[in-house]
Amino acid sequence: MRIVRDVASVRAAVAGARRVGLVPTMGAFHEGHLSLIRAARAACDLVVVWLFVNPTQFNDASDLVNYPRDEQRDAALAAGAGADILFAPGVEEVYPPGFATTVTVAGLGDVLEGAHRPGHFAGVATVVAKMLAMVGPDVAFFGAKDAQQVAVVRRMVADLDIPTRVEVLPIVREPDGLAMSSRNVRLGPDDRRRATALFRGLIAAERAASAGERDTRTLARTVEGVLAEDGLVPEYVALVDPDSFQPLSVVDRPTLVALAARVGPVRLIDNMLIDTTLINTGEVTP
Ligand code: AMP
Repeated sequence: MRIVRDVASVRAAVAGARRVGLVPTMGAFHEGHLSLIRAARAACDLVVVWLFVNPTQFNDASDLVNYPRDEQRDAALAAGAGADILFAPGVEEVYPPGFATTVTVAGLGDVLEGAHRPGHFAGVATVVAKMLAMVGPDVAFFGAKDAQQVAVVRRMVADLDIPTRVEVLPIVREPDGLAMSSRNVRLGPDDRRRATALFRGLIAAERAASAGERDTRTLARTVEGVLAEDGLVPEYVALVDPDSFQPLSVVDRPTLVALAARVGPVRLIDNMLIDTTLINTGEVTP
């Protein structure tokens, strides 16, 4: 695997490759990232892993300072998972002097995560647009962990006619259900245990929906109740359409349950798709 730092080198490296896969990351790799790299390896001829802790998507300065970084370890893990190129540009390569353009996705980028992290999705959309323009991949691989990011990126790619296919891979979880995240390393033992409440809350909502509950306010309260048992107060628990992120009042279609909560020093997000069409027609009938 080669490590490259500038746009000219990455373009030279991908030139002539038949099917280029790109895996965007901010590093501090865990199995979630590696699942994306392996999927890219299986589907593409050339796999580029983007590693850049993008300052413009951090609305909280201390979150940026404390974000874990270990490029050597990441390079070894990316190579082991099948990456051909680790593209790790410096901040000046991505944002040279005079940089003045911002991509915003109206509506989708303003709710939930966008409302709680002002400017976050403008930072994400802008850096993803740049990355796709720099590398020109045929396919880009994203994780369902960041469900709203996926919706924002899909909208932007469609709106700007970017010729890249967006592939989304399932959330990879720890054995106790906690969604893997680079920020989990900052959880102390007690917070690490309490953090499982996010997954348990989502599962409780899914079970209630399977049992016939369709009212989204009731389902949100179910999640909040599980969090409260561990003393957690979510920033939001929302039941929304997974593409538009518009709130739903009744679960009458595939419904995304999305939540964010602060656990000790760390802000965590998680989500789960409730698909009542599967629940109603599957073998789960009593
Ligand atoms: P990040 O480095 O946190 O910006 O994440 C890079 C990519 O990995 C994004 O597409 C994330 O959605 C994805 N990702 C992060 N955590 C997980 C996870 N637990 N399971 C699946 N994908 C993940």
